[in-house]
Amino acid sequence: MKKITIAIDGFSSCGKSTMAKDLAKAVGYIYIDSGAMYRAVSLYSIENGIFNGNNIDTEKLKLNIHNIQISFKLNPETGRPDTYLNGVNVESQIRTMEVSSKVSPISALDFVRKAMVTQQQAMGKEKGIVMDGRDIGTTVFPDAELKIFVTASPEIRAQRRYDELKGKGQEASFDDILENVKQRDYIDQHREVSPLRKADDALLLDNTNLTIEEQKEWLFEQFNKVTR
Ligand code: C5P
Repeated sequence: MKKITIAIDGFSSCGKSTMAKDLAKAVGYIYIDSGAMYRAVSLYSIENGIFNGNNIDTEKLKLNIHNIQISFKLNPETGRPDTYLNGVNVESQIRTMEVSSKVSPISALDFVRKAMVTQQQAMGKEKGIVMDGRDIGTTVFPDAELKIFVTASPEIRAQRRYDELKGKGQEASFDDILENVKQRDYIDQHREVSPLRKADDALLLDNTNLTIEEQKEWLFEQFNKVTR
């Protein structure tokens, strides 16, 4: 069966990565979480004094951007890929609220996006890839054969992120998460470079009232339609 490229974009905490991972696993495709790459750049920036409060030392980050190597390795325990920053597993560190609160301004920087998009396009050269993010169908893989744009209400998304953090034993406040979700939506949609928007040829999925199982079924149907 011919391999295709699948782009899943949408708002934060929409369950994009859950559906993307499940599909990739079932059909034997590579799964790439492009948000994890922007999160890793944000963690690097926090750890290397690039942030002064909320101000970013863009010159310093620009000088270092090509020293930031991001890779993914399958975790046999979870069956899912973990994110590595310069060879170190940072999967749990990049999911904290501190990183979440700093990632949208970092990912709005044009040189950061350029460096990440180059890496993402190289990862998808052979097709057989599911990538999720904000600009995959519009910028990274504009020729992807299957494009999905996912949305859900901010309250539902905040509740899902809250449950996820709690499940991992991390402290979380629902109100802070809701605020963060809304803030990231705003910055992601209004930035100059590759703002979050639905590609004209993307299928819209509002999963506010769908269970994970129902959403999975829907995605498989779309995959089968395109590959059949
Ligand atoms: O998907 P996730 O919520 O982990 O992404 C974290 C942040 O990274 C987003 O809020 C967005 O600012 C940024 N991002 C992006 N482009 C992508 C993926 C994520 O700008 N392709």
